[in-house]
Amino acid sequence: MKVEELLDSVLKNPATPEDVDTVTKQLGRYPRGIVAVGARCICGNPLAVITRPMLEGGVPFPTTCYLTSPEAVKAVSHVEAEGGMRIFNDSLAEDANLAEQYQRAHESYLSFRHALAQRLGDDESHIEGTSAGGMPVRVKCLHALLAQSLVMGKGINPIGDQVLTQIEDEFSPKVCRCALYNDRSNN
Ligand SMILES: [Zn+2]
Repeated sequence: MKVEELLDSVLKNPATPEDVDTVTKQLGRYPRGIVAVGARCICGNPLAVITRPMLEGGVPFPTTCYLTSPEAVKAVSHVEAEGGMRIFNDSLAEDANLAEQYQRAHESYLSFRHALAQRLGDDESHIEGTSAGGMPVRVKCLHALLAQSLVMGKGINPIGDQVLTQIEDEFSPKVCRCALYNDRSNN
């Protein structure tokens, strides 16, 4: 994944009013600071969104890649409830190669956000060095890690990728299971 390529595609395809409407239904609130949809279901519904580094009112927002699909959120919650985070943290402590890839995922996250902040003129000073999901040395939120995998593609975040494989019976970007708000595929 090249940061500049991703950034160009994000900025060329800003979130439409229809996207904002769908994400509002998914989250149950208005998605403040939404820049673009970072990943979509095969039906077109947003799965994860790109949020600007500083929201209106000067609120710093580190979670640039944010998971919005209710199906994905639920599937990941199952992994967390089954002790997935402890297993991933143990793996990180034991597997130097995994730890190194995870560190690189953290760096990719920061360089993407930094490039985004520069283009949008957002101040990053309050979130400098902070990525998401517990990176670079801990696993604290699998939702954030999966969001990075969905937005940046496979091979960037090793733990997000593993989560995606683990949940494929419940959620996959290649299988539409959008239940509640599937306006587009019904059209
Ligand atoms: Zn769908």
